[in-house]
Amino acid sequence: MDRQPIDIRHIWEARRRIRPLVGKTPLVESEELSRLAGGPVFLKMETHHEIHAFKIRGAANKILRLAPEDRKRGVTTFSTGNHGMAVASIARRLDIPAVICVSRNVPAAKTEAIRRLGAKLHVHGESQDEAESACYRLQREEGLSVIPPFDDPDIIAGQGTIGLELMEDLPELQTAVIPLSGGGLLAGIGMAVKTNQPDSRVIGVTMEGPAVMHYSLKEGKPLVMRETATLADSLLGGIGTRNRYTFDMVRHYADDSVLVSENQIVEGIAFLLNHHRTLAEGAAATTVAAVLSRKFSFDGKPAVLIISGANIDSSTLFETLEKASRSSYPNSTG
Ligand SMILES: *Cc1c(COP(=O)(O)O)cnc(C)c1O
Repeated sequence: MDRQPIDIRHIWEARRRIRPLVGKTPLVESEELSRLAGGPVFLKMETHHEIHAFKIRGAANKILRLAPEDRKRGVTTFSTGNHGMAVASIARRLDIPAVICVSRNVPAAKTEAIRRLGAKLHVHGESQDEAESACYRLQREEGLSVIPPFDDPDIIAGQGTIGLELMEDLPELQTAVIPLSGGGLLAGIGMAVKTNQPDSRVIGVTMEGPAVMHYSLKEGKPLVMRETATLADSLLGGIGTRNRYTFDMVRHYADDSVLVSENQIVEGIAFLLNHHRTLAEGAAATTVAAVLSRKFSFDGKPAVLIISGANIDSSTLFETLEKASRSSYPNSTG
C-alpha cells in the first residue's frame, strides 16, 4: 500500500493515551479448539471491558484527542450499538455531552445501555446508513464532533492496541482471526501484528448475507448492500462508498476473508458458553464458528480468535440456545 493513514507509532501512542480509561483484556487458551485445530488456539476476551466490547478503545483514543472547545460542544456518532455505547461511556467519564444515532434495527439491549450511560439517543431510519445521515446532520446543525465508528485514523489506532497486547502476551502468534465489518478492528490489529511478524496471517470473518467488506474486497471497490436480519448484528452496516482508510488497509492486511452461516454462529455462541462459560454476541462468535466449521486450515502454530463483544438481547440468547440444543453439534447444550 502506498500511503498508510497511521503507522505503528500511532498505535503505541493510542495505547498510552487510553490506558487510564481502558484496561488490558485477558488472553485464554481454548483447550477444545486447540485440539480441533491441532495447535494452540487462544481467545482474546474483548468481552471484559466495562461496555463488553472492544469499541471502547477507538472511541477513547478519538475523544481524548479532541480540542477543549470541541469537547464542550459535544460529540455524536452513528452505530449498530457497541460503538454508541463506547462513545456514551467515554463521554460520560469526561463529562462531554453525547448524541448517539441508531437505526430502528439496533437491538434493545444496546439502545437501553446507551440510554443508561446517559447519552441522548436518536433513533432514525431502517439502516446504519440512514443513522449516519442523521449524525452528519447534527454535525452541520449543532456543531457536534463526529466520532466515526471505523473509517478514521484515531479509531483504527485505538482498535490496534489489541494487537500490541497480543504481541506482549503471545509474540509467537501466527494467525489472527478477526470479525470483519467496517474494518477498523482488522486494520488496526493487522498493522500491529504484521509490523511485528510480517509473515503472520490475518483472516477476516463475516456472516453470510450483507458481508459488505467481504464482497467489496472481491469486487475491488466499496459496494452498497441491503441489510438483512442476522445474529451478527454488530457486523451490519456499509463501509461507505467514499471509504477513505479501512478498505485499503483491510485489502492490504487481510490474507483471507471467510463467511459463516447463521447456524454456524449459533454453534459458536453455544460453544463459548459450554466450554468457556463465556457469553459472546453473534459478531464475536463468528470467529469460533469459522474454526468449528473449518473455514480455513491451521498450521499447528499459535492462533488467536478475537471475541469482540458480549452485548446480546436475552430473548435472542434464549432462542439461540434453543436452536443450538436441536443442532447436530455435540455438547452444544452442555
Ligand atoms: C464493531 C464490531 C465488530 C466489527 O468491527 P469493524 O471495525 O467495524 O470491522 C465486530 N464485533 C463487534 C462485537 C463489534 O461491535
